[in-house]
Amino acid sequence: LRDNSLRRFFVDKIRTKDRTCTIKGAEAKHIARVLRMGAGERLVLMDSNGSRFQGMIESISSREVLVRLEKPLPKPPSSPVEIILCQAILKSRPMDYLVQKTSELGVDLILPFISERTVIRLDKGRLANKMTHWREIAYNAAKQSNRRKPVQIGSVSVFKEMLAELEGQKALKSVLWEEEEKRDLRGLFESHPRVKKFMGIVGPEGGFDQSEIATASAAGFTPVSFGNRILRSETAAIAMVSVVQYELGDLSQGNL
Ligand code: SAH
Repeated sequence: LRDNSLRRFFVDKIRTKDRTCTIKGAEAKHIARVLRMGAGERLVLMDSNGSRFQGMIESISSREVLVRLEKPLPKPPSSPVEIILCQAILKSRPMDYLVQKTSELGVDLILPFISERTVIRLDKGRLANKMTHWREIAYNAAKQSNRRKPVQIGSVSVFKEMLAELEGQKALKSVLWEEEEKRDLRGLFESHPRVKKFMGIVGPEGGFDQSEIATASAAGFTPVSFGNRILRSETAAIAMVSVVQYELGDLSQGNL
């Protein structure tokens, strides 16, 4: 029985030695001030390596919530496929939307990159703020969707550097290219059954240069078409994670 009725919170580390756990900072304030929870109320604590406990609030202030651990809870099953989304940075709203939706669909890692046609130009400072903002979206999406842990978001890299970084890694690799005419994801799945790790690259609003597709192919990423319609980047990313999770992961009967 999935008891999703209790509210869930991520904490850094659940120390079971004295069977209590203290929630601090923004989360404590949220629990006390916004959710207005009180002593005696139950909740679920989750830590970054996926362990979970049901607990009861012993004492609460907007600075600190003391929780008594009651019982360990089963970890939600993780998908049999690891999905890595290499995503060109988009304008803020579509990027926020993409981080939230692919999180709900179980993407494991998002690697944001800048390429020839990425519209957004970020300086170091703004980049750092973006990362913090995306990680907050990831954190909240993980709580809401009952993920084991939030999606990891890598630091922003330049397209070619990212490819160089990934070249050695073993995975089923594809780059979504709207000008590809022959190959599609189904063909890729058929030629690589039971793959455990998938890496998919999705381009920016302006797409990829021919040279970028050539570089991606040389790095082992097979260009695939996603049909005749031109999808917005965030649509392509969400659809790709859905299709891969359905075909190889836990969106289908076999792996629930
Ligand atoms: N060049 C496009 C815009 C790029 S769409 C245009 O003519 O308007 C944004 C990204 O989504 C693309 O870089 C690609 O990665 C992906 N994408 C969109 N539609 C696609 C399709 N039909 N097949 C494969 N990838 C697609």
